[in-house]
Amino acid sequence: MGRAFDHDVIIAGGGLAGGLIALRLRAFRPSLDILLLEAGPVLGGVHTWSCFESDLTPEIRDWITPMISHRWAGYSVRFPGYERRLTTPYLSIASSRFAEHVTRELGAGVRLNARVADLEANIVAMADGATLTAPLVIDARGPSTGPLVLGWQKFLGQEVELAAPHGLTGPIVMDATVDQLDGYRFLYTLPLSPTRLMIEDTRYSDGEALDKADLRADIAAYAQAQGWRIASLVREEDGILPIALGGDIDAWWDRSGTAASVGLRAALFQPATGYSLPDAARLADEIAVLPRLDTATVRAAVRQRSMTTWRDRAFFRLLNRMLFRACAPELRYRVIGRFYRLRQPLVERFYAARLTLADKARILTGKPPVPIGAALRVMAETSVLGDLPR
Ligand SMILES: Cc1cc2nc3c(=O)[nH]c(=O)nc-3n(C[C@H](O)[C@H](O)[C@H](O)COP(=O)(O)OP(=O)(O)OC[C@H]3O[C@@H](n4cnc5c(N)ncnc54)[C@H](O)[C@@H]3O)c2cc1C
Repeated sequence: MGRAFDHDVIIAGGGLAGGLIALRLRAFRPSLDILLLEAGPVLGGVHTWSCFESDLTPEIRDWITPMISHRWAGYSVRFPGYERRLTTPYLSIASSRFAEHVTRELGAGVRLNARVADLEANIVAMADGATLTAPLVIDARGPSTGPLVLGWQKFLGQEVELAAPHGLTGPIVMDATVDQLDGYRFLYTLPLSPTRLMIEDTRYSDGEALDKADLRADIAAYAQAQGWRIASLVREEDGILPIALGGDIDAWWDRSGTAASVGLRAALFQPATGYSLPDAARLADEIAVLPRLDTATVRAAVRQRSMTTWRDRAFFRLLNRMLFRACAPELRYRVIGRFYRLRQPLVERFYAARLTLADKARILTGKPPVPIGAALRVMAETSVLGDLPR
């Protein structure tokens, strides 16, 4: 390109979506001058991004492999009176591994401690007063909830070193045999080494307040109840993730500025879990092979994908409304417990957001674990597409 611009591509935000897009652009178009701007001191912050292997295509699995820090052959779930082991592989990307890999691939294209103050289609205003330009400006600065109707998945996780081996062979993705506080509550445990665990206390709640001190105490009590003696705390992460109940995706995009928003900022997440790794990887692949790399083209492609994805996933928002609106907070665990009695391939398609019509019928049939009147009220407010009417 001519040197009318400072760079070919500027990505604001070196988190999951921004980092993956930078990687795929580097792989498919190595001659591009890409600048990845991250406000924090490290790419990706402090995160463990996980997903089921069945959420990913084999091609995506291949290119994310260098960033995978752990892979387990299966996982288990626990509900009152019921425990199940599933053989779906589960994998995690530690943000430290992600940061190393992106930095290795991008080299001088990564700028840390670089806060963006404002951005438009071709201009980025930095907090230090500098101005940068590029034909393609991508806004990957993380969540912005906009006009969507949300519940919350809140959690605090601690990576801990134990005084003795824990004996777990795979993750416990949900242990709901705990007191049901502040909505649907479960503990999520990843065995990172024979003596190291990531333990997260998670709540599906109506409100977004998160009392970290309370959650720390609850994790300590859980570890003690499991017979795990914590020798030291290695690190901590917390999050408040959106759980989509409904909303107006067109209005979201109308208010999203002029740059190309991506990641959570493009409403690309699994509506039931708030997880965005598989969507972020898919989007990175799509952007990297677009015929033109300017803001208008990329924004139009992401908008199209975001709106199609949002509409395709209306059924998940119906289920979320059943969970949040038809069910008393302390009884929400029953809805999830019932779901986990379904066949493994269906559970896999659920998490991958690839449910068939027959799957949807299967999930809704049988005796509802929520009061029938409340379930009917939720159904009645639902349009033919399975979502809230606009
Ligand atoms: C603690 C936690 C754990 C999660 N675990 C999972 C999981 O296991 N699996 C999964 O699929 N999803 C998970 N998620 C959900 C989701 O995938 C993550 O939130 C994911 O990081 C979202 O990707 P993103 O790129 O949209 O935003 P982020 O990864 O948050 O990236 C945004 C980046 O932009 C930077 N930034 C913000 N403002 C500016 C600015 N003004 N200038 C420059 N940079 C800026 C931020 O510092 C950040 O690095 C988790 C979320 C949290 C909070």
